[in-house]
Amino acid sequence: MTQSQLNEERAKELRDILSKYSYEYHVLDMPSVSDAVYDSLFSELKTIEAAHPELITSDSPTQRVGNELLGGFKKVTHSSRMLSLNDVFDRADVEAWVVRMDKLLPGSKHEFFADIKMDGLACALIYEDGVLVQAITRGDSFVGEDVTTNVRTISNVPLRLREADGYEKFLVGRTEIRGEIVMLKKDFNALNEKQRAAGEPEFANPRNLAAGTIRQLDPKLVAARPLSFRAYDLLRDDPKDIPTNMFAYEALSALGITRNKQATTFMNLDGVMAFIDEWSHKRLDLPFNTDGLVVKVNDRAQFAKLGVVGKQPRAAVAYKYAAEQATTIVKDIVISIGRTGAATPVAVFDPVVVAGTTVQHASLHNADEIARLDVRIGDTAIIYKAGDIIPKLESIVLELRPKTAKPFHFEEALAHQYPELSFIRPEGEVVYRVEGATSALLLTKAVEHFASKGALDIDTLGEKNVVALVDAGLVKDLADIYTITKQQLLELDRFADISAGKLVDAIANKKAPLLERFVYGLGIRHVGTQTAIDLVNAFGSLEKLQAATIDQLKAVDGVGEVVAESVAAWFADPDNEALIDKFAKLGVKPVFEKKTGKFVGQNFVVTGTLESMSRDEAADTIRALGGGFQSAVAKDTTYLVAGGKVGESKLKKATTYGTKILSEQDFLSLLEK
Ligand code: NAD
Repeated sequence: MTQSQLNEERAKELRDILSKYSYEYHVLDMPSVSDAVYDSLFSELKTIEAAHPELITSDSPTQRVGNELLGGFKKVTHSSRMLSLNDVFDRADVEAWVVRMDKLLPGSKHEFFADIKMDGLACALIYEDGVLVQAITRGDSFVGEDVTTNVRTISNVPLRLREADGYEKFLVGRTEIRGEIVMLKKDFNALNEKQRAAGEPEFANPRNLAAGTIRQLDPKLVAARPLSFRAYDLLRDDPKDIPTNMFAYEALSALGITRNKQATTFMNLDGVMAFIDEWSHKRLDLPFNTDGLVVKVNDRAQFAKLGVVGKQPRAAVAYKYAAEQATTIVKDIVISIGRTGAATPVAVFDPVVVAGTTVQHASLHNADEIARLDVRIGDTAIIYKAGDIIPKLESIVLELRPKTAKPFHFEEALAHQYPELSFIRPEGEVVYRVEGATSALLLTKAVEHFASKGALDIDTLGEKNVVALVDAGLVKDLADIYTITKQQLLELDRFADISAGKLVDAIANKKAPLLERFVYGLGIRHVGTQTAIDLVNAFGSLEKLQAATIDQLKAVDGVGEVVAESVAAWFADPDNEALIDKFAKLGVKPVFEKKTGKFVGQNFVVTGTLESMSRDEAADTIRALGGGFQSAVAKDTTYLVAGGKVGESKLKKATTYGTKILSEQDFLSLLEK
């Protein structure tokens, strides 16, 4: 399938599922997913449509407000469309919104108006000469349902507007008041308490209960469920009656209508952002649920001039706070081998922001959990943050599963990713482990590797010392070597005053190792000395390497799929994340040195035996001059240094890639140049 067919198919699937969710939410008042999940899929559809406008259909949820009407009530056409709002999620989005308005109204300074966005159901109250004559739901934005009888039971909706000095004209002719019908949290909880006591099913959330209640055909039932109305707009036939949104709010209060007292105006964006920050937590203490803030241009003439695009006014946005849930695509499932030899599967995602931070992976724990979630590569997953810290995969949106998604076979994946290892799944256990490896053995090997010459090069920390430290329980992970004290060592048979002091000093001396040595030392499978150098040169810091996606890793010269998966899997493992944090806390700060020297950008392969130096010496010499030392001729190999005769296949590759062949003598003179 081509990319454009894929986009078309994805857009269709998103439209279908969003329409289904929208129906459940707006018509049945029984949502099957959270608003955050709906918003996440909605914004994915919007992104596709923005890049490919030809894919927009008239029935796309991005083009419609609300949903079809339920029936049972009289249909009423609104005096003006009851619009929806464009979502914004951060300061950059808000700034972009202001820039767009500046382009349309150059030179005019806008004052901003901001209010809490109530999570309820929109309703228009029509007053004729100050008397309530009709209440209409938003419906599909053009036509709503006449729910006057029900709205009359809401105690804070005045049947007659209050008379107030300066606002007399609002009691003459038609005055329309728009707002949200909400159920207060305490009332919702009390109702659910009753449901529980009666053994009845609980209601999903206050918004849907309020919406469902207002569309009950029996007004007695409505009266038994406490609802309240909070206004956010005031309309008159002559728009000049209401110069600003703040004026509208003052008029609403004067007329006896409940509205949020928190609403205020700001002369600049910094004020708006401070208001947004202020309410990010405080809103949780409000008596009703909120789904963000609404920010508008205060001046109503400017507001009208800016007009409407699609179903949203240009002069207002809905600011949505960081959601605890989001959807994304499972790009891959990789397996990480932990320090006990346990194989942990990790899902790799298209980066997505959840509760304010970017999430790229989540542990899937074991093969049983993968089976329980039925997660496949290519699936759309719902991600959430458990306790706000650790991202988890909650479930899969089955309806969005692509035909190409294949079930994940744990054993096949292990064989593909770790062909050199064999694994067993002990009777009654859910976890696959490296066969024949005990935790102590793996740890000893890992520490030895970390201290080895090519890694941190701590020569006093050889095999026997490592075994002694692990056996004594002084070292439980790589970072622990930095915690060892002379006193602890003196308690072990192996150490005397001088040797203990020497070891502690040698370790302390390696608190700022070269980043490539450190990365190599971590023992990430398939990351040898040269790969570590390539990775470090490409990313420049441990943080960036840690955050790299599989695609970014694959883009590094010399890094293929298997290596990329292995690196991603290692950094995705929560134990390893903790290990990296622990190093930092212990003051271990690897340093990145930008390569200098005459061989920067050049790669060497040495074949056969050189007479003047060993392979390792040759590698060190080349690297010291900034060059790369590769194990096989590849497309980016500059020189093939031949210690003796070059084999047929190497010669062929060198010719294909334009690699220059050097004799040992040529190589030595290149070094001396
Ligand atoms: P919206 O988010 O576009 O916001 C516009 C509405 O906000 C207005 O019509 C008004 O009713 C309301 N509002 C509340 N306080 C306001 C204030 N102070 N000032 C101005 N307006 C205020 O509303 P929408 O078009 O109904 O958007 C859809 C919403 O419904 C989204 O939040 C979405 O998550 C939710 N939804 C959820 C599901 C689901 O399955 N969970 C399905 C469909 C829609």
